[in-house]
Amino acid sequence: MVKIILKKYFLLIALLILVSCVDQNLSNKPAETPKENQSIQDNNSESGENVQKPVPKDPEYYSATISAIGDILAHGPVYKDASIGNNQYDFTDMFTQVKPYIEKADITVANSESIIGGQELGLSSYPQFNSPYELADILKDVGVDVVNMANNHTLDRGEQAILNATNYWKKLGVEYVGAATSVEESQQIKTLTVNNITFSFLGYTYGTNGLKVPEGKEYLVSYIDEEKMVEDIQKAKEISDIVVLNLHIGDEYSRTQNEYQEKVAQLAADNGAHIIFAHHPHVLQPVKWYTGVDGNQTFVIHSLGNFLSSQDELYRQIGALIEVEVDKTITYDSDGQANTLVEVQNPKILPTYVKFTDRKDFKVLPMFQLTNEYLPNAATIYNEIKEHMSQFDPNLQFIESKPELQEPS
Ligand SMILES: [Zn+2]
Repeated sequence: MVKIILKKYFLLIALLILVSCVDQNLSNKPAETPKENQSIQDNNSESGENVQKPVPKDPEYYSATISAIGDILAHGPVYKDASIGNNQYDFTDMFTQVKPYIEKADITVANSESIIGGQELGLSSYPQFNSPYELADILKDVGVDVVNMANNHTLDRGEQAILNATNYWKKLGVEYVGAATSVEESQQIKTLTVNNITFSFLGYTYGTNGLKVPEGKEYLVSYIDEEKMVEDIQKAKEISDIVVLNLHIGDEYSRTQNEYQEKVAQLAADNGAHIIFAHHPHVLQPVKWYTGVDGNQTFVIHSLGNFLSSQDELYRQIGALIEVEVDKTITYDSDGQANTLVEVQNPKILPTYVKFTDRKDFKVLPMFQLTNEYLPNAATIYNEIKEHMSQFDPNLQFIESKPELQEPS
């Protein structure tokens, strides 16, 4: 009996010791920080200094998302489908399915390919486009904050269409780049600041379908001039954290970038541009990271394809929304000197499909939701697009669920 009681007694003591050890371990955890402070003080006393070293300011972290969609190209069938009579148009239904994805990012950029010169100039389709003002209204409504106006259709309807479009964008509070109404404006770098991160926007096109700007009005559209582009990037870097380039470049209907596209992307990377949204081929081209001379990384989507158009071959009906995250970290050294680091990361893509029947009932749909009813072999085609877009970046993510935060429709 005694033996057993003793055994029990020892067991109890052993248990108590164990519990107190565990307890001590747990309570030690939060005490790690004071311990580190202690060692700083020890260091000070070792070096004989009694003055307390200033505590460095805590680092600051900021984050924002930016997304882009490709060509908004309103061919005749597209704006006729949006007609509600009385020379008025309503494009709402075409964007309903994709609006939650577009409005999600902090900043969204679109390529306004068919110039929005408005009804007063007379609407027109290929080859010299002019689109109704309501096309701008819907872009504003779905959350577009910046439009690129530098493309091969900028001069389609002359200077007046550019003035009408820029006035309308100003009225809507949508920033535009790649076209300007004066020399002064063409030299300005346009910026937007979100969550303490300043983005600057530049836009350039390879050409304007042989149309020339009126003498003395070279400011109207911004062409890819490597020297000017490099200067602009450098100016933009001085006043912003992130430099976003819109490039209208590449071979129409080619599914991969050409050498010239790679050369221009590399030049932009070497000069510290952070993001390139490119378009013109009317089909998707892959995403790719370029490493600049300083080891910096530049994110490029070589072609965003058609977001809305009436072009009717499979790959010409496929476009995308691309989204990246921008993180900004400011650290302070003990003298209070700030050091800012910006990173572009986590690219995500939503491939889209322009569905229409008999050149009517246009709707932009997320590809992951497509059924064979709208596109035979939808799943196989979607998978092929996924492989195609991620061939240079296996970490590219695909958006395959509806964003949680959305406005009631
Ligand atoms: Zn184009």
